Amino acid sequence: FPILDQKVKGKPLIYLDNAATTQKPQIVIDAISQFYSTTNANVHRGAHTLSDDATELFENARNSVQGFINAKHAHEIVWTRGTTEAINTIASGLAQSFLKPGDEIIISAMEHHANIVPWQVAAKRSGAKLVVAPINEKGELNFSIYKTLLNKNTAVVAMTHVSNTLGTINQVKEIVQSAQQFNAITVIDGAQAIGHGFVDVQDLNCDFYVFSGHKLFGPTGIGVLYGKEARLEQLPPFQTGGEMIKTVTFQQATWNELPYKFEAGTPNVAGAIGLATAIGYVNSIDRVGALAHEQRLIKYCSELANNMDDIHIIGMAENKTSIFSFLMGDAHPSDVGTLLNQQGIAVRTGHHCTMPLMNELGIPGTVRASFSMYNTEEEVAMLFAALTKVRTFL
Ligand code: PMP
Repeated sequence: FPILDQKVKGKPLIYLDNAATTQKPQIVIDAISQFYSTTNANVHRGAHTLSDDATELFENARNSVQGFINAKHAHEIVWTRGTTEAINTIASGLAQSFLKPGDEIIISAMEHHANIVPWQVAAKRSGAKLVVAPINEKGELNFSIYKTLLNKNTAVVAMTHVSNTLGTINQVKEIVQSAQQFNAITVIDGAQAIGHGFVDVQDLNCDFYVFSGHKLFGPTGIGVLYGKEARLEQLPPFQTGGEMIKTVTFQQATWNELPYKFEAGTPNVAGAIGLATAIGYVNSIDRVGALAHEQRLIKYCSELANNMDDIHIIGMAENKTSIFSFLMGDAHPSDVGTLLNQQGIAVRTGHHCTMPLMNELGIPGTVRASFSMYNTEEEVAMLFAALTKVRTFL
């Protein structure tokens, strides 16, 4: 991770903004550079060697994702620009072909805007209703209320696997199981989960699971829409044009087979290869050990926070990832963030694209330190030493 070896404001960089994006190992940077240096060509059009080679790398990358999330088929893996585009693809398709007036779409109060706004638009287009499942005071989904919201009109349940603001890990398997009793389609936003645990889509049994490559040590501009074969077959394409067609006349077109039906235009070949390399990297490390390390970091963080009276932790779920959201006294989060940056510490401040959640909690935003496997206990200690200094400035 070469980027981590630098100084910011004259201090060694402490990067604690991993929920926004993770940094990239050298091997991923090299794979992208190598692709453009040796193999760059358009895919699936090959009358020549470079195109054949690029196509092979591109399709092997799809196989890597399939293995990583244990999808049944490689054609259930659709490349997108990221989580946002994947959810838009699903929501827009369902609005066009499936949702009808009176249907209900359930989301939770902790969703990212990317898993709220596409459903608002889908609801408006189809006449369906958006229903919000509440959270409890710890920031966990209130499961018993969620279950009472399910009924015969529930058409879609779209929820996050892990909250980007609170760190809460949702019981996705149970959420999906309950939704399926009412034949609802289940959509899981895996943006924050994919870099912090094992995801098995067949075990979760969800219809759709989406994530972004850049939160898994891969490049930006590449993401994944996993869908069960039957669901993807039913869903109309989001974008149209080249690659996604089988036949075209001036009057009409027929769609290509899966997954190409959803991949209009020249895809992000280098991005897919970069992501596959990141997956290879993650598979090569001790993932169980890395997760245990992250859990130690968040535990240590909470212990240090408990020693500071003016730190108020936002998100106290029993089961959470290494996201530490907090407020310091009555200081504005952006002031705390600026003062931490002066000390070389990168955190995120604000509403974290969860404005409705902030409204529910009655706060303008939080300071969020989010950890990855390359962070250390020493860095956590330095965060708190820096916060002690911040306090003297406020
Ligand atoms: N959902 C969650 C829970 C997220 O944390 C994010 C990224 N902050 C997104 C969706 C959107 O991801 P992207 O911007 O990569 O499309």
